[in-house]
Amino acid sequence: MEAVSRLNKQLHFVLVPLLAQGHMIPIFDIARMLSQRGILTTIYTTPMNASRFGPTVARTSELGLPIRLVEVPFRSDVVGLPHGCENLDSLPSPDLLRKFHCALEKMQEPVEAHLRQNGPPPSCIISDRAVFWTADIARKFGIPRFLFNGMSCFSRVASHNVDQHFRSDPEYYLKLGATEPFEVSGMPKGRGLKLNKSQLPSTFKAQPNLDDFRMKVREAEKAAHGLIINSFDELEDECTRLYENAIGQKIWCIGPVPLCNKNTLDRLDRGNKASEEVKRCTEWLDAKEPRTVVYACLGSMCRLVPAQLIELGKGLEASNRPFIWVVKTRGDEGTLELEKWLREERFEERTGGRGFIIRGWAPQLAILSHRSVGAFLTHCGWNSTLEGLISGIPMITWPLFCEQFINEAMVVDALEVGVRVGVEIAVKFGDETKVGVLVKDREVLRAVEEVMSGGEEGVKRRMKAVEYAAKARKAVELGGSSHRNLSDLIQYVVRALSLHGKDMKV
Ligand code: UDP
Repeated sequence: MEAVSRLNKQLHFVLVPLLAQGHMIPIFDIARMLSQRGILTTIYTTPMNASRFGPTVARTSELGLPIRLVEVPFRSDVVGLPHGCENLDSLPSPDLLRKFHCALEKMQEPVEAHLRQNGPPPSCIISDRAVFWTADIARKFGIPRFLFNGMSCFSRVASHNVDQHFRSDPEYYLKLGATEPFEVSGMPKGRGLKLNKSQLPSTFKAQPNLDDFRMKVREAEKAAHGLIINSFDELEDECTRLYENAIGQKIWCIGPVPLCNKNTLDRLDRGNKASEEVKRCTEWLDAKEPRTVVYACLGSMCRLVPAQLIELGKGLEASNRPFIWVVKTRGDEGTLELEKWLREERFEERTGGRGFIIRGWAPQLAILSHRSVGAFLTHCGWNSTLEGLISGIPMITWPLFCEQFINEAMVVDALEVGVRVGVEIAVKFGDETKVGVLVKDREVLRAVEEVMSGGEEGVKRRMKAVEYAAKARKAVELGGSSHRNLSDLIQYVVRALSLHGKDMKV
C-alpha cells in the first residue's frame, strides 16, 4: 500500500463506470448527488462516452457543483474493435465482447497516471463491478473501493439463491426443462418468485472466452468494502439484509438516483443527446389528456428482430390510444428493415397524431415524468424499472435478458404495479434471430388494455404505483432512508481514511 505523506482536507470520490448506458447514467447521477454534498467527484470515461455526457457535466459545473469528467483513450484500434465502438450499445456482435473487455482493461494505466499527476488524492473509488482493475488502483492508493453494478438487492438475492440451490442440487438443475417454472428458495415473505432456466441472468449468449475476465472480476469483488445500490430500503424490504449476509459485505441503498435531476433540462438531456425533433415530443405530450399516453421503450441494448418490433408497433396501433414508441437506429440490416416496413405501411400517417415514433435516443426521464403518460411498456432494465416507479405509473413488462425477468416479478407480483406482456424466455444478445417472434400484437393489445382500463384491478394498480412514487421521493429527501445511507457511506470513507492517518473533513 502506498504511503500517503500529506494531510488531505478535501474528499475526492473517483467513479469508474462500465461503458454501457444502463451503468453510466446512474453513475453520473451518483456523482451529482455526492457533489451536492460538496464532495469533489472525478468520473473517468472514454472520448465518445464523454461527448454523450458532456452537456450534463457542463450544466452541473455551471451550478458550481464539483464534478470533473476525465477522458482516457479507448484503444479500439489496438484490440481490433471498429472505430468509435466505445459503448456496449454499439458493439456490432457479442463475439467482440472479449476485445471490448481488453480495451477496457487498457484504461487502467491512463486512469492511474492521471490520478497520480492530478490532485487532490483520491479518497475512494466507486467502480462498476466489471471494471476489476480499479481494485489494483485502490490497493496502490490505500483507499476503499465500492462496487456498483446497477441492480436491485431483490434481484441480487434472488440470483444468489438460485445459484446456491443449483450448486447444492446439480441433478435437479439438469433435470429441469428450459421453460419449466421453479420457485426461487429463500426469498422473504411477499417477495417470492418463480423463474425458469431460460430466464436466468445473463445478457449475452454463452461466451466461454471470457472466463479469465470473470475470474478477475470475482477476485476483485472479494476485496471491495461494500456495494452501492440504486434502490431504497422501503422497496427492498428484507432483501438488503439478506444479501448483505450472503456476501458478507455492507450495502448502501442510496436511490432512486434519477430523482437528483430536478429540472426539466436535466431530465431531457440525460445519457445521450436527443435530437431537436425528439424534444418536440414534450410539446406533443402537452396536447394530450393526463395519463392517456402509453410510452414504449425496450432500453438501450434492444436488438429484437424487425418482425418482433412490428408486432409491438401493430399492438400499440390496435390499442387506439396515444403512444410514444422508441425505435433504435443503428443503421444495421434489422433497423433498415423496420424502417422499410414503417415507410411501406405508412405507419406514421396511419396512426396520425396518435403515435409519436422516436428514432434513436429518447429523453426517457422527461417523458416518464410528463403528466400525460399513463403507462410504461418496459424491458425491465433496473434503471427503467425504477424510473417507472418514481413516475407513479403502472408498467407493461417485456423482459429481454439479464436480471430483467426478476425485475418483472418484482413489478408484477411483489409490488403489484405491472402486467406481463407474456414473455417466457430470454432473448440474449446474439440469439435474436434464432428466437424470432415471442409476442404477438394481440398480446401487446391485451396488456395495454389491462393496464389502461383494467377496472377495479387497474385502479388498485394505479394507486399502488402512486404510493411507491411517494415512498421513493421520501427516501431521498432530508431524513429519508437513502439520504441517511448516503451520509453513512461518506462517513464510512472518512473513518476508513482516518484509520490510515489521512485527516478528512466533509
Ligand atoms: N434511456 C433513455 N433513452 C433511451 C433508452 C434508454 O434515456 O432511448 C435510459 C433509461 O432512462 C435508463 C437507461 O437508459 O436510464 C437504460 O438503463 P436500463 O437499466 O433500463 O436498461 P439497459 O439499457 O441497460 O438495458
